[in-house]
Amino acid sequence: MRLAVQGIPTAQADAIRRGGPDANGQPALRRRAEGPGNPCRHCLQLIADGEDKLVLSYRPFTSLQPYAEAGPVFLHARGCERYEADTLPAWFAFLAPALVRGYDARDWIRYETGRVVDGPELEARCRQILADDDVAYVHIRSKFNCFQCRVERGQPV
Ligand SMILES: [Zn+2]
Repeated sequence: MRLAVQGIPTAQADAIRRGGPDANGQPALRRRAEGPGNPCRHCLQLIADGEDKLVLSYRPFTSLQPYAEAGPVFLHARGCERYEADTLPAWFAFLAPALVRGYDARDWIRYETGRVVDGPELEARCRQILADDDVAYVHIRSKFNCFQCRVERGQPV
């Protein structure tokens, strides 16, 4: 199965960069990235140490419903290119561990799919979860439960 891995929509990232409201209705905070642990949720790359980042609350769901968690994420303060690929970013292998779980078409968690796995196992686990037709998509989250990205079934080549 091919995967479809995407960063958050460009329109959402751009709106935040223009000072628009985050999931809490507040503008993002601008901070200097320190250390290597600052992933941008649009390009899914690590924000370089010393570069400016935006810190905001993000809700990776299109509608408000009981499972629509919001939480803290980072974005590059500058413009960047949305990640769109059939593999996870290489640095995800260093997530130790990550949380992964499937959601159904109503955006409800499919609890039986949830696992805590080390980064190198993430792609295989996504494929396992997405093999169930009742799963609409997968979320990958850090060990702190911060949303990293959404993974869907890709179109066959
Ligand atoms: Zn970025």
